[in-house]
Amino acid sequence: MRIFSPVTLDQALLLRSELKCTVLSGGTDLMLKKQFLLSDEHDLLMLQKIEELHEISVKDGITHIGACATQTDILESSLLWGVFRDVVSCMSCPSIRNLATIGGNICNASPAGDLILLMSLLDANVVVQSLHGRKTIKIHDFITGPGKTVLKEDELLTEFCFEDSLRSYSYFYKKVGTRKANALSKLSFAGAAKYSGNTVSDIRIAIGAVAPVVVRSAEIEKLFSNRSRQELNDSSYSISKLYEKYLKPIDDQRSNAMYRKKVSLNLLKYYIERVI
Ligand SMILES: Cc1cc2nc3c(=O)[nH]c(=O)nc-3n(C[C@H](O)[C@H](O)[C@H](O)COP(=O)(O)OP(=O)(O)OC[C@H]3O[C@@H](n4cnc5c(N)ncnc54)[C@H](O)[C@@H]3O)c2cc1C
Repeated sequence: MRIFSPVTLDQALLLRSELKCTVLSGGTDLMLKKQFLLSDEHDLLMLQKIEELHEISVKDGITHIGACATQTDILESSLLWGVFRDVVSCMSCPSIRNLATIGGNICNASPAGDLILLMSLLDANVVVQSLHGRKTIKIHDFITGPGKTVLKEDELLTEFCFEDSLRSYSYFYKKVGTRKANALSKLSFAGAAKYSGNTVSDIRIAIGAVAPVVVRSAEIEKLFSNRSRQELNDSSYSISKLYEKYLKPIDDQRSNAMYRKKVSLNLLKYYIERVI
C-alpha cells in the first residue's frame, strides 16, 4: 500500500483520478473496517493536510464548511450556531472529535451518522469535485442508503453549503443512546421552527436511525407550516400518523425496531406539543 498526503486540493484530485485509492480523512470510521485493515491492494489518499478543506466561512449569506473540518473545528467555530454544538458535543469523545471530519461522517453514510441528521435538517448542499469540475448535490440525493452515496471513484466531497439565515430558527435536538456521548445513536431527532408572532411559518423535522436514510418529508412539513402553535398542538396526533409510515427501523446490536419507532414518535409528539 502506498500512502499519499497532498497539501493542495488540485494534487488530491489528480491523485484521485489516476489511482485506485481509498480516501482517508480522520480515519475514525475507516480504521474499524475489516476489509480496509486486511487489504493492501488500494493506495491511500490522506486529506488532512489540505488546509482549504478545513475552512469554515460565511459568504453572501451562505455558510460553507470544508469536508475536512473536524468535529472539534465545528464545536469551536464562532460562525456556527447552537445546534451544531448540541449535536457535536453528543458525538464520540474529545480525542476522536479532533480527528473525525464532517466529510467522513457523511461519506460513511451510516443511518446513525449524527451530522447527516443535521445536514439534512438544514437542507445542505454537498459540493463534489473531480478533475472534470465541480458539482453541487442536495444531501438528500447524495446519500442513497446505508453506506451508499452517489460519489464516483474519481471524485472527492469538498464542502457543505447551506443558508446562513437558518441560524434564526429555533432548534430542538435529542440523541438517544446508551450514554450522553461516545455512543452511536439508537435514534436521533431534530426539529427546527421559524416563528412569526404566534405562527410557525416554517417547520422542519428530521429523524435518524429509523430508516435506511434520514427521515425528512417536505410534503408533511409544507402541510403544517404557517399554522398557529395551537393548531399544531391540536394536530400532533395526525402529524405522528403521517410520519409513522416513513419509519422503517431495524433490530441491531444498539436497539430494536419497536423501541426506535415508539421513542421517535414520542419525541415527535413532545416536540410539537411541548417545545413548539
Ligand atoms: C469511538 C468512536 C465513537 C464514535 N461516535 C460517533 C457518534 O457519536 N456519532 C457519529 O455519527 N459517528 C461516530 N463515530 C464514527 C466516526 O467518528 C464519524 O462518522 C466521523 O465523522 C468519520 O469521519 P472521519 O474523518 O474519521 O472519516 P474516515 O474514516 O476518514 O472516512 C469515512 C468514509 O468516508 C470516506 N471519505 C472521507 N472523507 C471523504 C471525502 N472528503 N471525499 C470522499 N470520501 C471521503 C472514506 O473513504 C471512508 O469511506 C464514532 C467512531 C468511533 C471510533
